[in-house]
Amino acid sequence: MSLLVVGSIALDSVITPFGETADALGGAAVFFSFAGAVLHPVQVVGVVGSDFPDEHLAALRARGVDLAGVERAAGDSFRWKARYSYDLSSRETLDTRLGVFADFRPTIPPQFRDARYVFLGNIDPELQLSVLDQVHEPKLVACDTMNYWIQSKRDVLLELLRHIDILMVNDSEARELSGDWNIYRAAHWIIGRGPRMAVIKQGEHGALLVAADTTFKSPAYPLQEVFDPTGAGDAFAGGFMGQIARTEDVSFDGLRRAMVYGSAMGSFAVEAFGVQRLERTTRAEVTQRVRAFRELVHFDLDEAEA
Ligand code: AMP
Repeated sequence: MSLLVVGSIALDSVITPFGETADALGGAAVFFSFAGAVLHPVQVVGVVGSDFPDEHLAALRARGVDLAGVERAAGDSFRWKARYSYDLSSRETLDTRLGVFADFRPTIPPQFRDARYVFLGNIDPELQLSVLDQVHEPKLVACDTMNYWIQSKRDVLLELLRHIDILMVNDSEARELSGDWNIYRAAHWIIGRGPRMAVIKQGEHGALLVAADTTFKSPAYPLQEVFDPTGAGDAFAGGFMGQIARTEDVSFDGLRRAMVYGSAMGSFAVEAFGVQRLERTTRAEVTQRVRAFRELVHFDLDEAEA
């Protein structure tokens, strides 16, 4: 059952206390694809410029990612530059050069239109809606967004919420969208506007899955070394959606498991710069880490309480 992602394909320049990269392979659709493809084949729709290195696309193909929906347009590729604080808890965007991404109008190739699982990466909500017009009958649609769209295209975003199953955002975005500082109330505000569920990413504090009558929390993996937090959220989304596409299980129990696969892939993403760690993550490593998550949170009640 096919898994489709639409989003940015970028050349990232990132500075952290541990080093820096220049024009490294990045972008939401790329982090999503490397993470998702470990679990299930991924189809990508996006755009790159004439300067985009062929070897970056080859690296994605080598992971079994289908790039039939990636257009090469005349002009510069999307470039993003950011610097992280000393404890990696915040980052400053130093430069965003849209290049060919400014005129991106996603066209879903005919062979992708039957996708059952769709992830709408962070792009203009009007374009996210246009993707939904082009796919026939997806079983589950999840969607990301960012503060920029919450501020500049709130009405379109609210319309989009009526057509998706899961909004997947970080905690500050959920607070800004809902106008509520309490993250649980913010999640319920979101699911009151269309999506069946909200996934709230909380960085080193893990992620929440909230439905009308139940909530699940996945911790972040307790890593002692973090090199570059870029793309953790997109890798989370790739692991989450990859696991759902692999199992076709959209029950709440299935989604709880998908949260842990998402958290596992997010943890691999931050262990090295850019996509370096995700690129070489094996299926066996994912299984091992998911088992470690189970150990991390499992407990038995004492007999008196059981
Ligand atoms: P995250 O760390 O999850 O926010 O994702 C970072 C990735 O998002 C980087 O690889 C960037 O290339 C990409 N990115 C940054 N700004 C934008 C934007 N305005 N639109 C789409 N993608 C972006």
